[in-house]
Amino acid sequence: MAKFQDPAMAKAAHKRLLADKFVCRRCKSVKKGNNLKALSGDITCRNCGSHKFKPKRKK
Ligand SMILES: [Zn+2]
Repeated sequence: MAKFQDPAMAKAAHKRLLADKFVCRRCKSVKKGNNLKALSGDITCRNCGSHKFKPKRKK
């Protein structure tokens, strides 16, 4: 992880990395999408057509 001198900058970068990214449960491709949409099966994987996604999280 890159280091930032400005805490606000680091926070923004962290948020950007985690925000609205979802991993397809079937083919593991990453897709950007709205959180609520993804969890309600409203987005479709462009690789395999699956509607099942899990949120991408980092610790
Ligand atoms: Zn997929």
